[in-house]
Amino acid sequence: MSDSAKQGPATGIIHNRRHKDPFGSPYSPVYNTTTYRFENTEALLDVIEGRTQGNLYTRWGTNPTIQELEMGLARLENAEAALAFASGMAAISATLLAHGRNGIVCVGDLYGGTQELLINHCQTLGIPVRFLFKEELAQLEAELDRPGKLVYFETPANPNLAILDLQAIAATAHRQGALVAVDNTFASPINQKPLELGADLVLHSATKYLGGHSDLTAGALMTSTELATTVASWRKNLGQLIAPETAALLSRSLRTLQVRIRQHNDNALAVARAMEQHPKVLKVHYPGLPSFADHKLASQQMTGFGGMLSIEVEGGQQAAASVADNLKVFLLATSLGGVESLVSQPSATSHHALSREERLQRGIGDGMLRLSVGLEDAQDLIADLHQALK
Ligand SMILES: *Cc1c(COP(=O)(O)O)cnc(C)c1O
Repeated sequence: MSDSAKQGPATGIIHNRRHKDPFGSPYSPVYNTTTYRFENTEALLDVIEGRTQGNLYTRWGTNPTIQELEMGLARLENAEAALAFASGMAAISATLLAHGRNGIVCVGDLYGGTQELLINHCQTLGIPVRFLFKEELAQLEAELDRPGKLVYFETPANPNLAILDLQAIAATAHRQGALVAVDNTFASPINQKPLELGADLVLHSATKYLGGHSDLTAGALMTSTELATTVASWRKNLGQLIAPETAALLSRSLRTLQVRIRQHNDNALAVARAMEQHPKVLKVHYPGLPSFADHKLASQQMTGFGGMLSIEVEGGQQAAASVADNLKVFLLATSLGGVESLVSQPSATSHHALSREERLQRGIGDGMLRLSVGLEDAQDLIADLHQALK
């Protein structure tokens, strides 16, 4: 095979393999095992005492199916190392516990589960946590008052797709001796590579675009070998490893990631343009529209604008609920990133716990609907929205 370092991302991920299969299968078998047999005690001690590399117990992360997946995950973000987890929250919690204990400064809107983890659990453990609105970014430098803190954010953010400047935040953080962790779930590694823009740690809910078919729950961390080693020990002892069968399913999904994301990008742009023309739609939040407030910044740091968008319909919460209920192709469900299109109303789901005032402060209007645009024919998605808006 040719030098894999020179190959493009699609070739690299399709031919991602640790070993040549003795039977000629293009893909590796699933190593559905929890343990590994040794020839004798000496061979076992060689592994335990680190003299030779070997697999001892799957929970430690030493499983060939999982390690092959991690090779592919690292490749996607051009990272030195990757770790696979049982869920996105497992990846996020292990990373925050491993690298956020000196204090975590969050910028902008966060996924609801992450917010809960930070408030209910990290703060309970005594970890200082600060939240800055996007508009308060100028205060970041002062918040990083001593080295060793962790800056944490998402871009594009949920559900208004707000964009944060990856390079600018990383520069400020590094000047103050802080690490930068970015949840890259919404963009996917095809549309945005935060490590190349200065981030130190990249997180994914692989449940979303990486899995892409709404049939698996998994998470991923891509980072340097050094930072990954610390997180791996937390993953091992918190017991957060992905199952080998899920790892194999996720590896299968990664082989089509690039084509899926390109189609998600095209479909979402078509839907966004159609919604922008609709008289009952007051606003469309999509980074790929020139009318979007952060369009210029998005164009600088993203190579595609993703499959997520939100619209604000005339008539507030009631009207939005009725549109959601009348959609037939879009399914009324939370989550995102699958081949099927989904609709959800942030005020009824992810941001239900907030007051109206708090929602408006976060740019979530009363009539907002979040769309995860899938891989159906764009004309059918647009027709579905038109009939539901009637
Ligand atoms: C879904 C999601 C998560 C959590 O991932 P799980 O796989 O559900 O644990 C984290 N961040 C973002 C942006 C998400 O959309």
